[in-house]
Amino acid sequence: MSTVTAYAAHSATAPLTETTITRREVGPHDVAFDIHFAGICHSDIHTVKGEWGKVEYPMVPGHEIAGIVTEVGAEVTKYQVGDRVGVGCFVDSCRECAQCLAGEEQYCDNPGMVGTYNGVGRDGQRTQGGYSGAIVVDENYVLRIPDTLPLDAAAPLLCAGITLYSPLRHWNAGPGTRVAVIGLGGLGHMGVKLAHAMGAHVTVLSQSLKKMEDGLRLGADEYYATSDPATFETLAGRFDLILNTVSANLNLNDYLGLLKLDGTLVELGMPENPMTVPAGALVFRRRRLAGSLIGGIAETQEMLDFCAEHDVRPEIEVITPDYINEAYDRVLASDVRYRFVIDTESLR
Ligand code: NAP
Ligand code: ZN
Ligand code: ZN
Repeated sequence: MSTVTAYAAHSATAPLTETTITRREVGPHDVAFDIHFAGICHSDIHTVKGEWGKVEYPMVPGHEIAGIVTEVGAEVTKYQVGDRVGVGCFVDSCRECAQCLAGEEQYCDNPGMVGTYNGVGRDGQRTQGGYSGAIVVDENYVLRIPDTLPLDAAAPLLCAGITLYSPLRHWNAGPGTRVAVIGLGGLGHMGVKLAHAMGAHVTVLSQSLKKMEDGLRLGADEYYATSDPATFETLAGRFDLILNTVSANLNLNDYLGLLKLDGTLVELGMPENPMTVPAGALVFRRRRLAGSLIGGIAETQEMLDFCAEHDVRPEIEVITPDYINEAYDRVLASDVRYRFVIDTESLR
């Protein structure tokens, strides 16, 4: 076991503070790496605050992790010391169910993927995340970061990037399709960049026009404020695919009205409380309401390679660990442009 410095939440309401945690011995199939950067995802905040259920504190968040390999187990074949690697939202799964065998480990049945934090690993130990100096992960759940992607910009791809890439691919976004992204935050801005790179026509639906210049620069073709009721009239029946990245509850009925016949609205945001949908919003235009969770290991690697090839990178604000609590407040105030990334040097 090794001791590592980390930033942990100690309750749902107290600020995160520096602490130490232990990492397991490097097993035969494990990769140990120094963490260089960790993104702050809104899911970290939902989890810390207990909005998704029980949390065992102290809990170290962070599932957008990028770093450099320091040690590999005797039977590791995929990675060597010095490799640039990443870890996303999960660090293990059953490896036997239909989804695991199909490379969709995020939907593992048996009993489910092992979260990078607030989960329990095969060894029975609680998992702790990336706001820390180093981590040990089975090589099958480690991603290779292409040489042309800087580590700080690569980190948010491990959650925000794949969470948008997967539904865009699943619902065939590309030339000739009209895609709308609700919310221009960490996930949303990756949705704009990725949908644009795939050749789709992209519209941002943001609360206001404050970030319009950014949205158009990131690759959006159109930009509308959802605070203006006229938006919902102008855009009625317009989209093939709508990706909802909002972390709070919305009136989904308004947004379903923006779909074409057979269009799909995909829930990516996971607000604490349920949302209601009138049947007619779906029935009259054969519309679909769907959800999507991150992506599997193979698809995450495909996404990283796609981003390297198409020069798609998140817009980031790099911070030091002592700024984490302020960064949380700014994310909650929709004051993030567009992902906070922690430089974990002081934790190594
Ligand atoms: P974020 O950076 O905070 O972005 C969310 C955006 O939603 C904000 O920037 C804001 O955009 C909009 N928004 C916030 N509050 C709103 C409100 N009350 N009404 C309308 N719009 C509002 O968060 P994120 O990291 O992108 O994560 C977004 C959500 O996705 C979270 O719930 C997170 O847990 C979830 N998530 C899901 C997955 C998955 O696999 N499905 C993966 C990662 C995260 P504007 O200012 O442009 O309106
Ligand atoms: Zn996330
Ligand atoms: Zn499984």
